[in-house]
Amino acid sequence: MNYSSAFIPTLREVPSDAVIASHRLMFRAGLLRKLANGLFTYLPLGLRSFRKVEQIIREEMDAIGALEIKPTVVVPGELWKESGRWDSMGESMLRVKNRLDNDFVVSPTAEEVFTATVRDELSSYRQLPLALYQINTKFRDEIRPRYGVMRGREFVMKDAYSWHADDKSLDDTYQAMGRAYRKIFKRCGLSVIPVKADSGAMGGSGSEEFMVESEIGDNTLILCKKCGYAANVEKAACKNDFTAQTSAEAAKAVAVSVPPIEKIDTPNVKTIEELCAFLKTEPQTFIKTLIYRAVNVELDISSAPGCANIERKKQSPDAPAVYPQAFFAVAIRGDLDVNEVKLASVLKASEVTLADDIDVTRLTNAPVGFAGPVGLSGLPIIIDHTVTGMNDAVTGALAKDLHYKHAAYGRDFEGWLIEDIRTVKAGDLCSQCGGELYTKMGNELGHIFKLGYKYTRSMNVTYLDENGKTQMPAMGCYGIGVDRTLASVIEEHHDEAGIIWPVSVAPYHVIIVPIKYDGAVKETADKLAAELTHNGIEVLLDDRNERPGVKFNDADLTGIPWRVVIGDKALSQNVPQVEIKRRGEKENRMIDLDKSAGELTERIREEIGTMKL
Ligand code: ATP
Ligand code: MG
Repeated sequence: MNYSSAFIPTLREVPSDAVIASHRLMFRAGLLRKLANGLFTYLPLGLRSFRKVEQIIREEMDAIGALEIKPTVVVPGELWKESGRWDSMGESMLRVKNRLDNDFVVSPTAEEVFTATVRDELSSYRQLPLALYQINTKFRDEIRPRYGVMRGREFVMKDAYSWHADDKSLDDTYQAMGRAYRKIFKRCGLSVIPVKADSGAMGGSGSEEFMVESEIGDNTLILCKKCGYAANVEKAACKNDFTAQTSAEAAKAVAVSVPPIEKIDTPNVKTIEELCAFLKTEPQTFIKTLIYRAVNVELDISSAPGCANIERKKQSPDAPAVYPQAFFAVAIRGDLDVNEVKLASVLKASEVTLADDIDVTRLTNAPVGFAGPVGLSGLPIIIDHTVTGMNDAVTGALAKDLHYKHAAYGRDFEGWLIEDIRTVKAGDLCSQCGGELYTKMGNELGHIFKLGYKYTRSMNVTYLDENGKTQMPAMGCYGIGVDRTLASVIEEHHDEAGIIWPVSVAPYHVIIVPIKYDGAVKETADKLAAELTHNGIEVLLDDRNERPGVKFNDADLTGIPWRVVIGDKALSQNVPQVEIKRRGEKENRMIDLDKSAGELTERIREEIGTMKL
């Protein structure tokens, strides 16, 4: 391809809203243009790399036996009403009506479409397991689209879904997807950190996210220096830094030596800091009690205090019954934060939020700030593990300006549930090896997830097993953002001058820069381009009538991995030579012209091959 006809509008200026390197460089190198907020047009150079990322993903999906299909992007709203997500997706889902006033959705994800497709065709266990995927447009009306295609409104996702006759088969595919993802990111030249992620109601090892380290990432990753444990903070667990009492009875026995619980006046003391100053104590000695409102609670709470009369409802005929709303008190050590994702997962709730002041006052009979587990009735108390190690604590006394001291778990209060709901932070100890944990910010590129029966149940998918009995298949889902992956490649591979593409996803492998595109130089450049092209190497030939400096700058900016400079002087030597340079390396090298095509071809093939291993 000749540069002059390749439509590569490079820019000297940086768009004012571009704060990260990939965003700046995708514009400057002429890969991308903005159509509107969160909507982008890939120009030819950008699209070439985009297609390569897609193709790598496609090859690795095909290699594990997943089958590509192509559903539409606009899908009937009916499907979303069936699954129950018409109501729960909120405003990020774009809904449209056609001329007949029918509801449609512009796919933000496609569990419904794939499940409906399989439901219509699945009859026998012999058809399982089955994994289908698409690489297709998604639309999410993100509140704050930002960082270019990292968080756009329209983007392309590879989304795969699988169906299984048993959990073992689901796990096999889940593991195979995990291996395929590792290969995909390696082939794209990306260093990803696979982390354990929240798997909602599925629990266990049902969810993994593939993160790249990023200052602008919106995920906190918890990592162990010693053993390599890696988890999203939403999921991360840590080793106990306290002596847990395994039962309230045991705790009671330990608390015998603790002075009896005592009410103390704490006038005008509202925050934990004020309380610590007032009592000359540390936050670790305080039991913080927060009141949460949970929505669509699937956990059976019929035996929990105050919950006997809450009505259970079904969102759809085949969905499990849920409590539309329930309140819980959560007690945790004063220096720690409640992890709301863990809490939601314990309650199998679709959402948990702090209760508002009116509810807190109603439920605790006290102003906000004086809740505590001692004497709190009519509300299930969920106790974080840390509290089981507290037998001489300070806590709210359910009345204005009053606290308790010497409160002991087991002796003075108990919980309805005891769970790990603390947010792990840097400095905590690894649950696996006791090593010190540290944090990094990460950006999610991909996610694999065991869904279980959520959709096959709500959308009534069945098959007949070996004995002719009707069964429901288990399901998994697996997504990768193509645009975000591409932008992340640039984040990881660039310098001051521009992009440094890994050969596997570079828009072209070689850029030939003739110092002046005429005469013998032109002839040589054309011939070399033809020879490389014949070898399957993708070549951009800078045929423009520009100064060499301009051409070199654009070659650096667009980041083509190999640059070949052809000039009069080196050509007219006894043995004609050209200069080759690897983008990102300082040194350039003169090589014999007649060896140049062979050497470049070999090195490029080898490099792409190595990335596949
Ligand atoms: P995030 O938390 O970043 O919003 P998500 O968890 O909602 O992502 P998934 O539903 O798991 O995303 O989608 C799978 C993949 O799709 C993500 O890992 C990401 O690579 C990509 N993706 C999601 N939202 C966007 C977006 N707005 N722009 C670009 N890519 C996106
Ligand atoms: Mg996700």
